[in-house]
Amino acid sequence: MIAQLRCLQHAAREAVARCPQCRQSFCRECITEHDGRMLCLPCLAKQSVLLNAPSTLWPKLGWTLGAFAGLLLAWVFFLGLGEIFLRASG
Ligand SMILES: [Zn+2]
Ligand SMILES: [Zn+2]
Repeated sequence: MIAQLRCLQHAAREAVARCPQCRQSFCRECITEHDGRMLCLPCLAKQSVLLNAPSTLWPKLGWTLGAFAGLLLAWVFFLGLGEIFLRASG
């Protein structure tokens, strides 16, 4: 008798499909169709994490804001320094 393939997550359940990504067998509940192909939930989660990863725009924006804040701080610093200098001299 040929042993039935079992779900990787549910040993008691019969596997209905194999995930093309991790090549493990899964039951109906553990595998889902995504973009026209079957994917197990762990692989789907991994994929959605990649899709939902923050875009490259945010680090750049952070750098720009940081640079801007630095410039502003320097400007305020020198402005204050100049004012002190002017008051001290005049
Ligand atoms: Zn998988
Ligand atoms: Zn399962």
